[in-house]
Amino acid sequence: MQLSARIASSRPLATTAMHGRVETLRNAGEAVIDFSIAISHFPAPAAVLDAVAGAVERERTMPYTSVVGALNVREHLAAKLAKENGVAARPDEIIVTNGAKQALYEALYAIADPGDSVLVFKPHWPAYVATSQLLGLRPILVDLPDEITPALLDSLEIPKIVIINNPHNPTGKVYTRRELEALRDWVQRIGARVIVDESYEHLIFDGAHVTLASLCDWRAIGVVTIFSASQSYAMMGWRVGFALAPAAVVNAMQTLQGPITAAAPHLSQVAADVAFASGAPVAMMADYRERRDLVVRMFADVPWVRMPAPDSGPYLWGDVTKLTLDTNAFAESLLERKKVAIMPGEALGVPGFIRIGYIADDVSTLRDGVSRIIEFGDAFAARKT
Ligand code: PMP
Repeated sequence: MQLSARIASSRPLATTAMHGRVETLRNAGEAVIDFSIAISHFPAPAAVLDAVAGAVERERTMPYTSVVGALNVREHLAAKLAKENGVAARPDEIIVTNGAKQALYEALYAIADPGDSVLVFKPHWPAYVATSQLLGLRPILVDLPDEITPALLDSLEIPKIVIINNPHNPTGKVYTRRELEALRDWVQRIGARVIVDESYEHLIFDGAHVTLASLCDWRAIGVVTIFSASQSYAMMGWRVGFALAPAAVVNAMQTLQGPITAAAPHLSQVAADVAFASGAPVAMMADYRERRDLVVRMFADVPWVRMPAPDSGPYLWGDVTKLTLDTNAFAESLLERKKVAIMPGEALGVPGFIRIGYIADDVSTLRDGVSRIIEFGDAFAARKT
């Protein structure tokens, strides 16, 4: 059957496509170690599981809520924003969504028209570019510098929309207050709108999270801030997050969300209500830190990779340019020969790098998978010389 021209020119997200391949291989009986995305081995916080079990027991009927989400949930999210992010917001400035991805799509749909430019720093989460392309927007990809300065910003093509991911997937960069102030001043000067994805706000090892909206008049500038329960509370499959935006933008996002999914699922809203009030995931971060340090140590003396310890997040971002710039082929061959899945840098806009999600398995599987990558890379290096 003939598909629309629109979808025919689109490709599945590289990350979910790789994860799908791993599932297919596993269903065929292959024992694949999957570092391609970061699915936590932690369950949702106990208070979330209790609240959801209680809701099933007590409520039984699960009505639609309003498209933007139940009012009591949005009131609690507003309280979270005041307490944790230093942002004063009203419930009508909040929309609960099926994860950050839905919030991103709706926000871009609501504030940009086909042909508009979207600045994205690379390496980047694949969804920023894929979603922009689905909407006919024009991504401008710029190398993420160690430090964002006014001089760097002034050297860029002026975009209609800026997307910031803070903390950043995959490098773990945590934007400093100074960088965010520079960004704020720049977008104010050029009149760009901003989408800030703060989905990893609680996964910080070193440094403090600063919410851009707390540093500016976000209503006047037009800042959309996106949060997700997926990573900060290990709730990937619950599919719930929310966006903070000026009321008119929330209203526009609701107009789009209504006919697509209507509200986020009732039980996921119950879960989000408790999750976003549960604070920093201290035990989870202690576990992630140990895993991060283990993998960094394992790679420390490997001559063909540079793998710094990230300040945040569930990924390691390794520079393998000494070995190859074709990390697509590297990842393919690694999967085929060693049954380990990673994300090649190409998928995130930067060839010559590999991304390893290190939070999924038990530690011995993690160690086994990393050893296989090192063996594979050593053999690759030996063939080169
Ligand atoms: N933003 C970024 C940058 C991510 O990497 C992820 C998880 N992969 C998310 C958001 C979470 O998206 P969702 O809430 O749709 O699961």
